[in-house]
Amino acid sequence: MENGVRLHFAHSCIRQTRVRLYFSDGAKRRLPSLEANVNKDFLAPRRCLMKPISVIFEAARILDSAVDAHLAGEKVRAGRLIMEADIRAIADWTEALWGGPKPDIHRVRKVDNAPPILPNEKRIEARMPSAAERRKLIERDGWNCRFCGIPVIDTLVRKAVREAYPKALRWGRKNVEQHAAFQCMWLQYDHILPHSRGGDNSLENIVITCAPCNFGRAEYTLEEVGLIDPRTLPVCSSAWDGLERFLGPK
Ligand SMILES: [Zn+2]
Repeated sequence: MENGVRLHFAHSCIRQTRVRLYFSDGAKRRLPSLEANVNKDFLAPRRCLMKPISVIFEAARILDSAVDAHLAGEKVRAGRLIMEADIRAIADWTEALWGGPKPDIHRVRKVDNAPPILPNEKRIEARMPSAAERRKLIERDGWNCRFCGIPVIDTLVRKAVREAYPKALRWGRKNVEQHAAFQCMWLQYDHILPHSRGGDNSLENIVITCAPCNFGRAEYTLEEVGLIDPRTLPVCSSAWDGLERFLGPK
């Protein structure tokens, strides 16, 4: 999270119909559009920031067929299917999650005694899991986001598919230049207690997630956005293999 405006719910506002959002500079601003969304469920614990839309799962099925076609030597069909999975509505869902905190989606609230954002020198050095650790995490969590449950695809697979189908799998520097399904389903190693809040790199503190859930939560703790700890919930079981078979036999 860059140094953007931070939104907090004031404690006393939770029971009120009107919600006032407090900005970090102390200024108060009323956001009337929020009123309609505030009800008893608004601050209730939830599994993910925003329920995934069904078209994401449809795109996963299309990509799965694309890999089948590729492995059967049907390159033209595979390329066409990859392009078919590049669906605008998915990019919109992703953007809603990671395009900065929104009152009705992120629902950030003030939590007493929340760990502070640490200065860089006080943080444990961030480190990506090693190949062996990544394998352990996949074996433990599977190929679905531990928060929202959507299928995920590892960066290595995306790179291999892009190398074989550079026109079908667009992947530019800007968000809008990236294939919507590969972008949304981009596998992340997400720190449950954010690194900036004192989280370490132990496997117990890391879960497999999609990119919108990881970047959407940014530096907030689970409590600050009302998320249930996914480690307390069963792993999503599915036949999805992260398209790993595209890479061929190990
Ligand atoms: Zn997710």
